[in-house]
Amino acid sequence: MPEIVSLASKIGRQLPSELVNFVRVAGELAANQGQSLYLVGGVVRDLLLRRPNFDLDLVLEGDAINLAEQLLQVRQGRIITHRRFGTAELQWDKWSVDLATARSETYVEPGALPSVSPGSIEDDLFRRDFTINAMAVMLNPNRYGLLIDLYGGRDDLEHKLIRVLHENSFADDATRIWRGLRYEQRLNFQLGENSLKLLKRNVSMLDTISGDRIRHELELVLEEEFPEKVLLRAKKLKVLPKLHPALKGDDWLAEKFEQARELISPNSPSVGLYLALLAYRLNAKESEHLISQLRLSKALAQILKDTHNLKAELDWLAQPGPRPSSIYRFLHDYSLSAITANLLACNSLVIYQHIQFFLDKLRYIRPSLTGNDLKRMGITPGPRIKEVLDLLHDARLDERITTKEGEIDLVEGWVD
Ligand code: ATP
Repeated sequence: MPEIVSLASKIGRQLPSELVNFVRVAGELAANQGQSLYLVGGVVRDLLLRRPNFDLDLVLEGDAINLAEQLLQVRQGRIITHRRFGTAELQWDKWSVDLATARSETYVEPGALPSVSPGSIEDDLFRRDFTINAMAVMLNPNRYGLLIDLYGGRDDLEHKLIRVLHENSFADDATRIWRGLRYEQRLNFQLGENSLKLLKRNVSMLDTISGDRIRHELELVLEEEFPEKVLLRAKKLKVLPKLHPALKGDDWLAEKFEQARELISPNSPSVGLYLALLAYRLNAKESEHLISQLRLSKALAQILKDTHNLKAELDWLAQPGPRPSSIYRFLHDYSLSAITANLLACNSLVIYQHIQFFLDKLRYIRPSLTGNDLKRMGITPGPRIKEVLDLLHDARLDERITTKEGEIDLVEGWVD
């Protein structure tokens, strides 16, 4: 007989009361129409681990969109529906909950998206990536809180194990390789012996995954608290070279990521900054290849290009005593993440100090007078305005003037 476990009190203690009330109401509504509603996936895992997670995923054995529409009458908000997948996202105040119709999935071709049909909660749990993510909690009032754990997820949480549900899991969907490493490193768990063997055997299946999906996984890695742990593990398991063979997951990278966190604290470094550091040691051609392989967004692609171009020119900043305005002109067109990556990666104290001067001070300095002020003062509208503003900006940067009055005097001198 499987042990009967209730998570009712954990839900009450760990979720905000707004969400507890919501799942109770949703469970009652589902029960009233003879359907079963469950809390599933990451939130169940995190309830058991006592980790905060308010991203609720609900699965209904029935029409989830219909239930979401009924819930919208109870919680005034909005829903975004995806009819093709039978899913809805319900948003109200600061809350957001995903509802999906229980489904079964079949992988016709490795790496491609699966074909989907409505199914039972058992089917829905079987399609999931790891045992620790394949648990559900019943929300109907008569069995509220009951844990459904068909694959030993709770045991695996206890033993700190990441295990796939079946032999074909990584081959069906190789993004699970990256997901597995992410959970392993985030939770300080280990891949189970057989799962690790299967992962190693299926690393080549990453080639079946589209650039868009791989990029999404990489972005999720870079949003982790300690992304370098995942990248170092990925290097060891020969997963990182699948992103690009020249990428390194080593002590240098770990040190730079750590320094990035110290520098940006109390916020987290952006995905762009981490990515710039990861790609820092690629050459121009390799970097371009990574950009196209991962179909990076325009903004991220620009960060990588800037990082590389700045690195190529960086020696200019090693000269002693450049004027502040020259430092500003040299750096200000590059994206902030590219500049920061170069600050962290450079080996010269002088370069470091010049970049830091730019980041801490120079980039905030602006002249007080505006284009309109200059027109009023008699400067001919047109390109001359921009020239004068630039001259004022330089004078401010070099501290030749420090007040608005000083700027006015300077301009009046030029007008006369
Ligand atoms: P995180 O804490 O990283 O957000 P999560 O478990 O909430 O973790 P999501 O990516 O939001 O992760 O996915 C929700 C659930 O959907 C997972 O818990 C898992 O059960 C399932 N899932 C997500 N991606 C896959 C996949 N590629 N293969 C199988 N199941 C998946």
